[in-house]
Amino acid sequence: MRKTVEEGKLEIGQTFPLTIRKMGINGEGVGFFKRQVVFVPGALPGEVIVAEVINIKNGFAEAKIKRIREKSPHRIEAPCPVYDQCGGCQLQHVTYEEQLRQKRDIVIQSLERYSGLNMEKTKIHDTIGMETPWNYRNKSQLQVGKQDTNVIAGLYGLNSHRIIDISDCMIQHAATNKVTQVVKALLRRLNIPIYNEKKHSGIVRTIVVRVGVETGEVQLVLVTAKNELPKKEIFIRDLRNKLPELKSIMQNVNGKRTSIIFGDDTHHLAGEEVIQETLGDLSFELSARAFFQLNPTQTVKLYDEVKKAACLTGTERVVDAYCGVGTIGLWLAKDAKEVRGMEVIRDAVLDARKNAANHGFTNMEYKVGTAERIMPLWVKEGWKPDVVVVDPPRTGCEYEFIETVLKVAPKRIVYVSCNPSTLAKDIKHFSKKYNVEYVQPLDMFPHTAHVEVVVKFTLKK
Ligand code: SAH
Repeated sequence: MRKTVEEGKLEIGQTFPLTIRKMGINGEGVGFFKRQVVFVPGALPGEVIVAEVINIKNGFAEAKIKRIREKSPHRIEAPCPVYDQCGGCQLQHVTYEEQLRQKRDIVIQSLERYSGLNMEKTKIHDTIGMETPWNYRNKSQLQVGKQDTNVIAGLYGLNSHRIIDISDCMIQHAATNKVTQVVKALLRRLNIPIYNEKKHSGIVRTIVVRVGVETGEVQLVLVTAKNELPKKEIFIRDLRNKLPELKSIMQNVNGKRTSIIFGDDTHHLAGEEVIQETLGDLSFELSARAFFQLNPTQTVKLYDEVKKAACLTGTERVVDAYCGVGTIGLWLAKDAKEVRGMEVIRDAVLDARKNAANHGFTNMEYKVGTAERIMPLWVKEGWKPDVVVVDPPRTGCEYEFIETVLKVAPKRIVYVSCNPSTLAKDIKHFSKKYNVEYVQPLDMFPHTAHVEVVVKFTLKK
């Protein structure tokens, strides 16, 4: 939450020198003008800039950099040619080492503010980064559009509904870039109608490509506004000729006026319906709509951190709360007596059950429902966990869920968070009965402002 200040002190267009004190949760620079908070995208901690106010809202000001007077030694030239327009990345103008330090600092700022922890006594480890922090995303979803006669595909630009063409995204896996390029060229050559958002006409809306990083298998899902796909046969034949790695070609139909990518109907066009991927010892079949972590390299490190914090010996009952398709539980299952997971999305739970069965685990059980509803049911049945792992959405855990966990008092809680602010608030509740052993930040999305955190809690004696 941003700090409230008296309005009216700064005005739009006003320019003034500003020292940047820290990095905000969205990767922007944060400074104070006569105690007013000013957010400046692109400015770095330690820099002195001349800021120009562009917006005043809810009591804080937003400014842009007019000039940099004193530059941070960690500032670099962003390597991506469309970095300034695209909006997909926020930190390419910072060295990678400094990104990792700043992400740790963002976690510290949130904990200082909301957790009630004594920060001098709290162990916050260095951020676990990537060795090669590029080309890590296994899936791309790019909107298709036309620019004159050219077919383009990209993301909507910052604060606009104009598509920024992305031909070689530096954070995407090379295989997804290659397939997208070939599809774009084919759409143009075959003159297949492109969807026009304003007129709600045309056919092809989105190019979705996912690669199994370990297996090399690639799936294309072409999202179209209608069932028909003109020149379908030639399109498929040419694609298969040019891209032998394409194991699966699917079509998804989304006829609605919406910014949601997928519609309800998915058709099989060619090859297999799924691609294979592995994560450590586990293997997964990925269908067009299946959820899968976007950075598999870092996911393995994240799950290993969860395993380390869970300290399992083979005798424990474990909860995998907010389990998605059950991957964290699978990672832990062979060291646990029993794993139970819950998740609100029914299809994800079906996948979780299938994944458990495929790996021969008989000690796993999954329920559809919210963590706050299912957890008390288990406790009422007399089933009590020894270790609880939570991986909630950005909003954090519901209070009822935390209360139930506090009541059954498992030996350990492992909290995986993608939002330091809600994590800090939840830590405050758990702290009634638990000590924070350590906090481990991890970088799932290099060059963006996201930070993932694992917290190990142990029951107070
Ligand atoms: N643990 C998984 C995914 C975690 S993402 C993995 O590592 O891949 C968070 C998940 O929580 C999402 O799948 C979301 O659907 C689910 N979710 C959201 N609110 C929930 C709630 N109140 N109870 C249970 N699950 C919830």
